[in-house]
Amino acid sequence: MPKSNDRRQAGASPTRSSPRTITADSIPPEMLDPDALRVIARLEREGHQAYLVGGCVRDLLIGRTPKDFDVASDAHPRQIKRLFRNGRIIGRRFKLVHIQYGDHIIETATFRRDPEPRESENDTGDAVEDAKRDLDDLLITEDNVFGNAEEDARRRDFTVNALFLDPTKRTVIDYVGGLEDLEHGVLRTIGDPHTRLAEDPVRILRAVKFATRLGFRIDDDTWNAMIAIAPRLSRSAPPRVLEEILRLMRSGTALGAFRMLRACGALAVILPAIDRYLGAKDDSQAQTRAGSFWRLLEALDSDVHQGYLPSTSVCIALLYLRIIEREADPATREMKGKAPDLVTVTAEVLVPVGLATRLPRRETMRARKIILLQRRFVQTSTKRFRPLAFLRSEDFPDSLALFRLRMAARGQGWDIYEGWKERHRLALSAPKSELEAEGSGKRRRRRRKPRTGGDASAGGKPAPTAG
Ligand code: ATP
Ligand code: MG
Repeated sequence: MPKSNDRRQAGASPTRSSPRTITADSIPPEMLDPDALRVIARLEREGHQAYLVGGCVRDLLIGRTPKDFDVASDAHPRQIKRLFRNGRIIGRRFKLVHIQYGDHIIETATFRRDPEPRESENDTGDAVEDAKRDLDDLLITEDNVFGNAEEDARRRDFTVNALFLDPTKRTVIDYVGGLEDLEHGVLRTIGDPHTRLAEDPVRILRAVKFATRLGFRIDDDTWNAMIAIAPRLSRSAPPRVLEEILRLMRSGTALGAFRMLRACGALAVILPAIDRYLGAKDDSQAQTRAGSFWRLLEALDSDVHQGYLPSTSVCIALLYLRIIEREADPATREMKGKAPDLVTVTAEVLVPVGLATRLPRRETMRARKIILLQRRFVQTSTKRFRPLAFLRSEDFPDSLALFRLRMAARGQGWDIYEGWKERHRLALSAPKSELEAEGSGKRRRRRRKPRTGGDASAGGKPAPTAG
């Protein structure tokens, strides 16, 4: 089957068409980042084109505060670097320049275009096979071909992410229909959605992120392509996938995002154990346990709206808490063998997750630990427990955060949480001598055999975390 560049067929006009340009009157000048404006002014003085691009233009046009301001220019990385003493070229495959002002960085990239599609050398003659292979071949591996402004707009993911803002002329430049989609609140890939999502399936997760964060509707063709391409997420680099999962959890719209991931089939590929845990729609038992999972995400969203930023280990612990509770309970366990102690169960569940997602080992350990420490909030009379050391340990804040989310999801236990919060405040100001007294061996310690497969701080009996 002959290769064609689908994105130029579907919806998108050929390159070097004239863009739609509007004035940027709706954007108050004080919303623009002065350092980014400085970078653009300097590049323009040297005869280059330079614009604000991507998420910041989108956000400014809908009245949101941008997270960061990115610049794109026709100047090549080395030319940019030469103009800025505070500039540093970064990246190997995709080179761009970081221009540093204090602790603030303006990412300045050179216009790029997508690399030409490669010719398929061994078409089989079977149209379906070849079509599948063509989509496989689209996976982008090379990403550093310089281009012009229009090509740079077209290689971006969604129309609303491909707008340019010229701060000098005070205009917004649109090559891909992004302004209209922004007006209607629609998220749409640039060009043929199957092609664009197959090139980089992580764009499916980005679609979920933008649609839920901005409250946009996903265009039907884009949504159908998300469903079709979702299985290919298994081919994307696990660290990129993990990063997007964590972003969704920190977005304040985790509940909506995870529901959407499930609906398009992406959850089953990126977090299969969670998708299985949530079960089938017609399974009433599964619906009850799914409810308890969704309530945790709801609690998380509510905390994020109050300004809380969950650490990686809290995100992972929260995602797998319900599964760990189920596997630790002999009545509900699905894994092989009798329910072992909680230390072992956290390892059974989280170690494979850590390996599959390439989560750093210390984060897996930490997620296990903060789950194991949950018992301490309700069970403090154990002989070896040293409350002050617990309160001052580096795991305490994350453990307490997880406890708070559990209590919020449960709708009770708030008084216990408040009590611990107060104890934490007091413990932080307690003199060192008090801590030393607590650990001064007044209590006799039993010698124990070293435990295998787990974390010694945790203790033994199954599932005291329930709820
Ligand atoms: P945020 O507000 O979350 O930072 P953003 O739109 O700025 O959103 P970034 O991930 O910072 O998103 O990327 C900057 C821009 O780079 C995007 O707006 C988009 O134009 C382009 N981009 C990023 N990732 C991809 C991708 N996987 N495929 C195509 N274009 C991408
Ligand atoms: Mg950004």
